[in-house]
Amino acid sequence: MKTCKDPYERFMLHHLQYYGLFAGRDTPFQRSFSPDRSWEKVRRSRHSDIFPDSDDSGSDPADDDTQTRRMLFSRPPEQVRVRSKQLVFDFDGDRPKPRLSEPRGLFAILSAAASHQGVRWPVECQVIKDEIRHIEWEPAEPEPFYQSTGYEQMPMPVGEGRGKVVFCIDSATKSPFYTRSRVGGSRAPAKGPAFCEAGGDGTALAFESRFQSGNLQKAVRIGVYDYELTLRTDLYTTKHTQWFYFRVRNMKAGVTYRFTIVNLMKSRSLYCLGMKPLLYSERAARDQGAGWGRVGSDIKYYRNQSEHGGQALYSLTWTCQFPHEADTCYLAHCYPYTYSDLLRYLTAVTSDPATAVHCKLRVLCRSLAGNAVHVLTITSPSSSRAKRAVVVTARVHPGETCGSWVMQGLLDFLLSDAPDARLLRDTFVFKVVPMLNPDGVVVGNYRCSLAGRDLNRNYCTLLRDSFPCVWHTRNMVKRLVAEREVVLYCDFHGHSRKNNVFMYGCDSKNGAAPRLQSRVFPLMMSKNTGNQFSYKSCKFKVHKSKEGTGRIVMWKLGITNSYTMESTFGGSTLGSRKGTHFSTKDLKSLGYHFCDTLLDYFDPDTAKVHQCLMELKTLLRQEIRQKLGKEVDSEGLSSVSLSDIESSTSGSNSTESDGLPVHLIYGAQKVTKCKKKHLKTRKERNRLRQHQVQSTVPKIIHQDIKAMYLLPPLR
Ligand SMILES: [Zn+2]
Repeated sequence: MKTCKDPYERFMLHHLQYYGLFAGRDTPFQRSFSPDRSWEKVRRSRHSDIFPDSDDSGSDPADDDTQTRRMLFSRPPEQVRVRSKQLVFDFDGDRPKPRLSEPRGLFAILSAAASHQGVRWPVECQVIKDEIRHIEWEPAEPEPFYQSTGYEQMPMPVGEGRGKVVFCIDSATKSPFYTRSRVGGSRAPAKGPAFCEAGGDGTALAFESRFQSGNLQKAVRIGVYDYELTLRTDLYTTKHTQWFYFRVRNMKAGVTYRFTIVNLMKSRSLYCLGMKPLLYSERAARDQGAGWGRVGSDIKYYRNQSEHGGQALYSLTWTCQFPHEADTCYLAHCYPYTYSDLLRYLTAVTSDPATAVHCKLRVLCRSLAGNAVHVLTITSPSSSRAKRAVVVTARVHPGETCGSWVMQGLLDFLLSDAPDARLLRDTFVFKVVPMLNPDGVVVGNYRCSLAGRDLNRNYCTLLRDSFPCVWHTRNMVKRLVAEREVVLYCDFHGHSRKNNVFMYGCDSKNGAAPRLQSRVFPLMMSKNTGNQFSYKSCKFKVHKSKEGTGRIVMWKLGITNSYTMESTFGGSTLGSRKGTHFSTKDLKSLGYHFCDTLLDYFDPDTAKVHQCLMELKTLLRQEIRQKLGKEVDSEGLSSVSLSDIESSTSGSNSTESDGLPVHLIYGAQKVTKCKKKHLKTRKERNRLRQHQVQSTVPKIIHQDIKAMYLLPPLR
């Protein structure tokens, strides 16, 4: 019997077989029961695409049962590895107790309340059961930057020696590399963190971070209201602290608390330019409808005299008061946007007929942990192959939550009934990947995936199983380019050192016209969002070190307008918004302006583009005159090297390219070690020595890695 992938089809198949109506030919069945293709697509996506824990295999449940039974009874208990998702395990001490999972409704879509339940975590991660959600809110007035007084305190780390550890979770490098995942993380019930309050007076703050995107490693109480905090580094790395998000309870109202994060690694930060941390109070949300707001005084970012692996460490310190007694509050670097937030959003847009009709949701691939990476296709129903395509992606860097808010603004608009949105859908096919690195988002990483590497340096990778999210995205774009003209690619990011919003593009050396052309879209963005977007901050140089980024790889696939859009974690220094933070509404409005600018750029009346080209000529010539002191005419614009006029990486948020995935490196070392163990005779040792002299080290490592790579992927 042919198996059906779709749970609905599977159900119908059984149903019809039961009544003797189906004889095994599934094609007419599909045809006769699928009069409306668009509904079918929506329904399919609801079932198999949104559920991140849905069975990948798509096998028949009856087969699953037989298989499960066979496996359960043919192996000793310690070897039993059940593949069926219908059995779930509770634990009685160490003893697993199997039970059947709750039946899933036939047309059930991901319920908003359960969207966190199917999320996959590395198997060693402890996760608390609480579902964490925040309300969306807009402050009445834009929130001003912090004004430095020059008298801010700069407390130096004192550590556990002179304080009391009040919160500590397992180390980030508990296992050296990612091995496998599990829905909900560690099997062991989440115990209290290593809590050293014995003999305490009960007035210590209760910290927690074992939830999606949380990343507090340790809190040490060094004064009655003074806490020293350590952030967890990106999983399986020892770097990339920047993002923070944690919960506090047991606070007193009207008391000034000081928090100092002591293991930050960047030498510069927006906290030096007036940015304030964010606070969310559950009481304030419930009683006043207030959400995330900027807080803090005595804010200082500074080098702190300690180091980590030879690298200088920096501290961020601030003081703040909590609005209510015995409240539950959260502190964060930027407005959180978790994987569950995305799932809830996708559920909402695909279950509302008004928006579902404009989009098709699919799973592009599974991440390393098995979380779904979604792709939305948004267009109007038409079979025209002549439609050009636009590709938009976000959250390759998990800590850059601003990218998700911009993305949500873009999707809200594209799926709306606004005439301009309709026009965009009639003109283009949009391919949207809203969260490229769900695993990183889930575990609270700032920069990396579970391969311990920056995905945005690995778009050229051949290692599909190690970097599935970017491998499949590049492949999708490759196919799209072969099928139709892809006119624009943009990847949404957040920027940690510069205010405003700006873009990185790719400068062409093939004459003045393409050089100017790639600058038109960013210039138009700055005209449409004058008090948020800074054209001056845009860069167009194609750095060698950035060759693995989405922007450069897509550009090399032939997409001339290939950009990274950086939205600051802070706020604006422009126009009427000068000196104020961005809210989620501001970030979402950028998504709308991005769409608006697309219409300007592709307007059949080219007057606006023409005007921008004229302006750009003047701007570029001015820049050359200022930087190089020479005059060039329009034709000479392409002869000047960008290295001479762009201030290199000063604006960049870059990390160095960091090589192979951690598990492969670790595996290669292990293979080499194992080989040594098997050598017994002098003859064998001599032969090896000879071999080592002859061959170069990279060759050995390469072979070992190849050997590792031929093994089944570590899942
Ligand atoms: Zn980024």
